Amino acid sequence: MDKQKNKDHRQIGQELDLFSFHDVAPGTVFWHPKGWHIFLTLQKYIREILTKEGYAEISSPVMVKSELFKRSGHWDFYSEHMFNLDLPAGKAGVEKEPYSLKPMNCPEASLIYGTKTRSYQDLPLRFSDFGILHRNELSGVLGGLFRVRQFTIDDAHHFVRPNQIQEEIQKLLVLVVDFYKSFNFKPEFYFATKPDKAMGDPKLWEKAENDLEKALKDAKVKYGIKEKDGAFYGPKIDIHIKDSQNRDWQLATIQLDFQIPEKLKLEYIDSEGKPQRPIIIHRAITGSLERFIGILTEHYQGAFPLWLAPVQVVIMPITDKQENHAKKIVEELLKNGIRAELDNRQQTLQAKIRDASLQKVPYLGIIGDREIAGSNISVRLRDGKDLGKLKISEFSQRLKEEIDKKI
Ligand SMILES: [Zn+2]
Repeated sequence: MDKQKNKDHRQIGQELDLFSFHDVAPGTVFWHPKGWHIFLTLQKYIREILTKEGYAEISSPVMVKSELFKRSGHWDFYSEHMFNLDLPAGKAGVEKEPYSLKPMNCPEASLIYGTKTRSYQDLPLRFSDFGILHRNELSGVLGGLFRVRQFTIDDAHHFVRPNQIQEEIQKLLVLVVDFYKSFNFKPEFYFATKPDKAMGDPKLWEKAENDLEKALKDAKVKYGIKEKDGAFYGPKIDIHIKDSQNRDWQLATIQLDFQIPEKLKLEYIDSEGKPQRPIIIHRAITGSLERFIGILTEHYQGAFPLWLAPVQVVIMPITDKQENHAKKIVEELLKNGIRAELDNRQQTLQAKIRDASLQKVPYLGIIGDREIAGSNISVRLRDGKDLGKLKISEFSQRLKEEIDKKI
């Protein structure tokens, strides 16, 4: 048992047919249907939450002129981690000019912010963003889903007035705690304070630090301090979790930024009609979705909760005789939004049960003559627990409730 506990996500990914890696694109995930299903389900869940929290989703180009990163200030610190392209002149209508694959979404989100005159009443403005990012990690440090060159962050940028920092951060902390409950993770927070090389107005730094600390206190979350570990452009809160094996992961950060609004000359008009600089809060909850799915895969050892499981139930007729009936049940479950599959292979029932359990399918439904006669189905869980016979409608209802509750 213990051996199984420590499977690496790469091994689980192969056994459950979730994803693969290929030499033609080192550090880049090839998602198979089941793995991509997990990705999309997670993304859908995040989108649902963010819509309720008043976010508006944006999308911007993957390839942009390197000049944008020079303007935003990223180039000096970041260009060696970027994929920079010198495109030949005249081809495909692109002028000879250096382009980059974006390593972060913020400069482009800022361009969208800047397309309109924003009033103080428009703020806070929350743009969420699942943009595809590239970072040029050395091939030696690439490691399955944990360290990749192309990834997607559940990214967002809040454009706020200075007097909105505290409330906005406090809301975010509550959101993070709620989100992680769905995975039985308890987040831990670390407040990273002003570094020696800090840039920007010292008064703004002081106010922001006070606001962050007050938000942490008011949200009643436990937090530690990372002394002088803030970025030079603003203080931040790091979010850590512990997985089922008690390993500590830093997943995401809530980061205040006084610099990008300055560099890209972002403005809003205050109540007296004067232009002011907004502050940007960069924030992610899961961080890279690829990495988060790698962590979840190891955390659950492939036995994903029902709502995330790519196949939620396998229906197994005991012999050919029950195949048509079993097919109808699969169709009915599919119509009810339950991801059901039929196992009609010429195998013994024991072999079918073993295979579905190894594939970590949460529910197994068995159909024999007795079940057909009683208009029901024999139900087992992947861990071998026998739930006895259930009416199809009862079974379907039970699954739907569990999916909704994200058990
Ligand atoms: Zn950002």
